[in-house]
Amino acid sequence: MLASKPIFYLFSNIYDGVNELVAIVDNSKCTGCETCVNECPASAIAIENEKAKVDKEMCVDCQTCVDICPSEAIVVE
Ligand code: SF4
Ligand code: SF4
Repeated sequence: MLASKPIFYLFSNIYDGVNELVAIVDNSKCTGCETCVNECPASAIAIENEKAKVDKEMCVDCQTCVDICPSEAIVVE
């Protein structure tokens, strides 16, 4: 059983430069707490107008932000 995505998957996404799945923020739930900004391994999230915003080209679909957001404001789709 695979516990998580293999590391080569993450890096292959970076090198491809194209991601089929990306993190999407629900602005109605986001409190701008910056937890996701600090934890994203790809530095793909920034705060704009007090809400998290994901750079789709930088996101590697690791789902870390989905797991750690205290407001459950992020989904990957
Ligand atoms: S962790 Fe969640 S609530 Fe906090 S800034 Fe990111 S998306 Fe918004
Ligand atoms: S899915 Fe991963 S890489 Fe994409 S924004 Fe969330 S933490 Fe960053």
